[in-house]
Amino acid sequence: MEKKKFETEAIRTQMERSQNLEHSSPIYMTSSFVFEDAEDMRASFAEEKDRNIYSRYSNPNSNELIEKVCKMEGAENGFAYASGMAAVFSTLAALLDAGDHVISSKSIFGSTHTLFTQFFPKWNIGTSYFDANDLSTIEGLIQPNTKILYAETPTNPGVDVLDLEVLGKIAKKHGLIFIIDNCFATPYLQQPIKFGADLVIHSGTKLMDGQGRVLAGITVGSGELMDKVYRFSRITGPALSPFNAWVLSRSLETLAIRVDRHCENALKLATYLEGHDKIEWVKYPFLKSHPKHEVAKKQMKAGGCVVAFEVKGGLDAGREFFNSIELLSLSANLGDARSIVTHPASTTHSKLTTEERKAVGISDGMVRVSVGLEHIDDIIADIEQALG
Ligand SMILES: *Cc1c(COP(=O)(O)O)cnc(C)c1O
Repeated sequence: MEKKKFETEAIRTQMERSQNLEHSSPIYMTSSFVFEDAEDMRASFAEEKDRNIYSRYSNPNSNELIEKVCKMEGAENGFAYASGMAAVFSTLAALLDAGDHVISSKSIFGSTHTLFTQFFPKWNIGTSYFDANDLSTIEGLIQPNTKILYAETPTNPGVDVLDLEVLGKIAKKHGLIFIIDNCFATPYLQQPIKFGADLVIHSGTKLMDGQGRVLAGITVGSGELMDKVYRFSRITGPALSPFNAWVLSRSLETLAIRVDRHCENALKLATYLEGHDKIEWVKYPFLKSHPKHEVAKKQMKAGGCVVAFEVKGGLDAGREFFNSIELLSLSANLGDARSIVTHPASTTHSKLTTEERKAVGISDGMVRVSVGLEHIDDIIADIEQALG
């Protein structure tokens, strides 16, 4: 059948109905699957048949989720993981050999950064970092053993935007595997494979679920690379549970409509803050004042749910703003129906000095808001009273 529109695939990509003719997909809470006879068992293990054997390898609920995300991202194959970090680690570990080298954007998720700096050196895998706002330095970092180019866009917490087309061209020219963590954008807003990405990783925990219920991760992309990733992942055991796969597949049915509203609310909040006299600056990819606004418009459908801004008065003003928040949640998560405010300087990045924070784009009064689905008037009213 002809490929349908994004929203339709998100809803209509569904596992085959069972003999019960259920309308919505059931949950297959089973660790293993049975064989017809000795020959069926032999052929299944020999991979002559495409069928479920054991839920560490595959399960109807993860298969449905993978098929759906592949359609959304324009990917050939995928694997579903118990968390976003399980996806990041398994994907990289499957593709890297001892002695290989990675080039990564400096502005990446904290745990991914720790993986590169503290754990991969155990296997003699080194990482060089480039500034998310200066892609011209990337080619200078390439070594004979460089295998992977890794980045996220928009970045966390600074909402910088990296040009995927430029990254894709560099990766292609030098034969690097190009991997994008597309968590902030979701496949609804941005499809990195169109710009040359070989693999796309998601934390399903954020906007994909969107209601703060499950931890999940997924990697999708080229069939050839996913085959390697699959072989590693089915042996090492990071598979997503059928229940969480079922929840996430239902969540994706409403991804487009939810993300539309997240983006609408975020743009309204960013626009409101832009003229505010207690605010030093505001950053949001779909504000004209964003330094990479044109790039954002080229590769994204809308700006996403995260707005960053600086309260005038530095660290103390930032802390006071937080203590005055009433409705919004003070939490480190993002992409939830509930709006969340975070103060990176006193929480996630408090171990760094002011200078070190500056180097990764975090100032002392900087606030990150993950704009949720409450009525925008109530979100703005809470921020307004907290600023007062
Ligand atoms: C949260 C997050 C991850 C990790 O996902 P978990 O599901 O928490 O393991 C990876 N990348 C980005 C950009 C994230 O925001």
